[in-house]
Order: sequence, then structure tokens, then C-alpha cells
Amino acid sequence: MSRILRRVGGNDFLLMLDFDGVLAPIVARPNMARIGKRTRALLAACARRGRVAVISGRALADVRTRVGLSDIWYAGNHGAEWQMGKARGREKLSRALGTKLREAREAFAELSRGYRGVVVEDKVLTFSVHFRALARPHSARFRKDAERVAKKFAHFLDISEGAEYIFNIRPRAGRTKGDAVRLARKSASAKAVPIYIGDDTTDEDAFLALKGGITIRVGKSASSAAEYYFKTRASVDKFLRNLA
Ligand SMILES: [Mg+2]
Repeated sequence: MSRILRRVGGNDFLLMLDFDGVLAPIVARPNMARIGKRTRALLAACARRGRVAVISGRALADVRTRVGLSDIWYAGNHGAEWQMGKARGREKLSRALGTKLREAREAFAELSRGYRGVVVEDKVLTFSVHFRALARPHSARFRKDAERVAKKFAHFLDISEGAEYIFNIRPRAGRTKGDAVRLARKSASAKAVPIYIGDDTTDEDAFLALKGGITIRVGKSASSAAEYYFKTRASVDKFLRNLA
């Protein structure tokens, strides 16, 4: 951690972070996820020192409410919605793609009725299927069934399994967290040292977009493109405190 802090030094920074698993602990049900009071205060302190952007797979309005800070930047739906200073917008889906997305969501909702604890979360531009609350012995069978459903839409939609028992379903060739990173860098001061902290599959797009910048993964993974890793989420708070 001290090496990362030395790289930032006294410079201006652009701190970008994922929400779930980075700012908020992972919980069984996604609507229970909360950022701790201390973490929020530390994030606010960082926002007084540099630029802060939360880049989440959640819908933008949802993550903004959960973080609860008005003077920072946000991107939601894995980069398909953004509010970064004057840059505000959301991806437009073609009618055909919108229909496929709805059909896929309905197919997963139908599948989930056979599994207790599985939740399909409609985020308009993308959707997620959460199965962390499903009894573990059923998860292998659920994965298989989900793959079967996913296959039908594979031509139009990208279906990837994230950390902590979740499927993220997004339009193929849609905007990613990598696009959110590029937009944030364009909107921030050119001198700001970019930092990205994430823990999930879709954060890899952000890590790749930030080659040469400071990339940190929460939890080690041999296949990650991140340069550094923190063992646990608690290290994020420690890092925020030092950065602020
Ligand atoms: Mg995450």
C-alpha cells in the first residue's frame, strides 16, 4: 500500500471505485448492501482532496442513493449510464436489442421461479441474476440451467458470471466500465493520477482501460489485469484514510 501511496504522492488524483465488495461489504441480498458510515466519511474526505467517481454495475440512481454523496461522479449499469460533471448520459439501446433484453430477463425470471432465493434485478439497460441466497447444493444445477437459457441469447447479449454468485447480462458491444474510466479521465484534470479499485469480472474492463495507471483488485486473482491487490475490503478503508 505504501508503494501505491508513494506513486500518488502529493499529486492531484482521480479515484475510481466499484461499489459492491469495495465500498460496501457483499451481502446475501443486493438490496441489503450498505456503505458504512466510516467508509462514506473517508470517501467524502478523498473527494475534498481529489476527484472521486463510483463506477458500479448497479443502476446509477441506485448506487448514487446508496453512496449518498452529491459532489462526486457516478457511472451505473457497468458504464452504460454516467454523471460526471457536465458529462451526463445513458446508452441508447436499439428497439431490437431492447426486446432481446426483455425476453432474456423474462426467461431468467421464469427460471428463477424454480429456485428459492434467486432474484432477477431489472436495471433497464442491463439486468442481473443474483443467486447468492440460493442453497449451495443447488447452485451447480442452477448454473447449468442458466447457461442453457443464456445460450439462446448469446448472439445479442453478453452473459458473464461475476464474483459472489451473480450473472450480469448486458448488450453485446455495449458500453463497459472501461468506457466509464476513459470518460472520467477525459472529464478530470489531465494531471490527475488515475486509480481504480474493483473486485469483479466487469472491473477487468476498467483495469485494461487504465494500463499504466494504478489498478487495485480487492481479493487476489491470478487472471486479473490489476497491478496490485488488497487482501480484504478493510484495506480499502485504510487506503482511503491515507489518501485523504
Ligand atoms: Mg464489485
